[in-house]
Amino acid sequence: MSLIPFHFAQPKADKISFTSARDLPTLPASMSSKTFKLAALAGDGIGPEVMREAIKVLRAVEKRFSLQFDITEAPVGWAGIDAAGKALPDATLELCRKSDSILFGSVGLPDRDPTIPKEERPERAALLRLRKEFSLFANLRPVKLYKQLAHACPLSLERQGNGIDVLVVRELTGGMYFGQPKKTEQVSPGVMRAIDTMVYTTPEIERIAHVAFKAAQLRRKKVTSIDKANVLENGVLWRDVVTTVSKHYPDVALEHMFVDNGAMQLMLKPTQFDVMLCENMFGDILSDEAAALAGSLGMLPSASLGATNGNQTFGFYEPAGGTAPDIAGKNLANPIAQILSVALMLRYSFGLNDAANAIDDAVTKAIASGLRTGDIYSAADATAKKVGTREMGDAIAAGV
Ligand code: NAD
Repeated sequence: MSLIPFHFAQPKADKISFTSARDLPTLPASMSSKTFKLAALAGDGIGPEVMREAIKVLRAVEKRFSLQFDITEAPVGWAGIDAAGKALPDATLELCRKSDSILFGSVGLPDRDPTIPKEERPERAALLRLRKEFSLFANLRPVKLYKQLAHACPLSLERQGNGIDVLVVRELTGGMYFGQPKKTEQVSPGVMRAIDTMVYTTPEIERIAHVAFKAAQLRRKKVTSIDKANVLENGVLWRDVVTTVSKHYPDVALEHMFVDNGAMQLMLKPTQFDVMLCENMFGDILSDEAAALAGSLGMLPSASLGATNGNQTFGFYEPAGGTAPDIAGKNLANPIAQILSVALMLRYSFGLNDAANAIDDAVTKAIASGLRTGDIYSAADATAKKVGTREMGDAIAAGV
């Protein structure tokens, strides 16, 4: 078993090694003495508030496990535009290149300066650019409903079954978000035309499919591949390639589902899903829909993984949600998604499995003890105590 969960540099099935969560071996001595260089890019809105709590937890981990994290904070998003005139300032990008991984908050403030062109706005100029720059092609979003938060799930208890636990594996560097041509043009006076292009190649589909099947092997051994093969050429190719890749994994059941049905089934019977494999745009939408099942975007971490070098995988770790301008700066944001993103980073990039488990356990303990930020609070739960961002972070750091 390899120390590092993913070897993405080699997309062939036999070259990808995948382990996860508690199954990972502990860190070799050579890695435990290493200083891990981290770029912490908090971004906009609630980004700085939740990043502060994540760093607090990282410091607690550092102490408990005698690790060393060299954390450098840098501006990105509107904070980057304010500081250096660019959503992804050159110095921030340079820092990322020199780092072992990126811990990211979120970027974008929809109401800010509409005169700034789309391609210079944070979502495109920072987020999409970073994904491309570091070839972060695989996005993993675990969606788990904690049993104490059943009330926050919009589905009835009956539909929640014995618990919802879905892993959305989303292709992140291809498809409609990057395909060319991409433009808006005038076709006649008063008539505009917008063009986005969906493009996928066989190798792009193969490598993300391998990730999904490897992930499923360590879970409940089922992949639901999402496409729109009844309408899109891309869907036909996607389905063919995923079916071919599935032959390498006879122990994993494969089913195909049209994306519209997938969206509906997530609401009707989410317990049927183990791993959902999606192209970029479908994964974007379905992962947020799945996120609602966990009660709040504030509970959901994500990992975007790139190349593996030796014992480390370069990764980009961020909460599933955005900048939440409606609650920013009020100590209301739930820091758990950002904190669990730290746990994913320790596990998937550095193989620091014990430290990652300690964070997961501390989050579980905080929830079990009744602590709730506003997004997951229910007045009907007599044991629940409403707390702010800072208090939740303090409790989790203390739990570590
Ligand atoms: P959002 O995710 O910011 O907010 C949606 C809802 O979820 C809001 O009600 C918000 O309060 C809530 N929410 C999100 N995170 C929360 C948390 N940690 N704790 C408690 N509640 C939380 O989505 P939006 O409002 O559509 O987007 C706002 C901005 O964020 C936009 O500019 C968008 O482009 C950007 N965005 C950025 C990223 C990213 O940086 N990765 C992702 C999504 C959206």
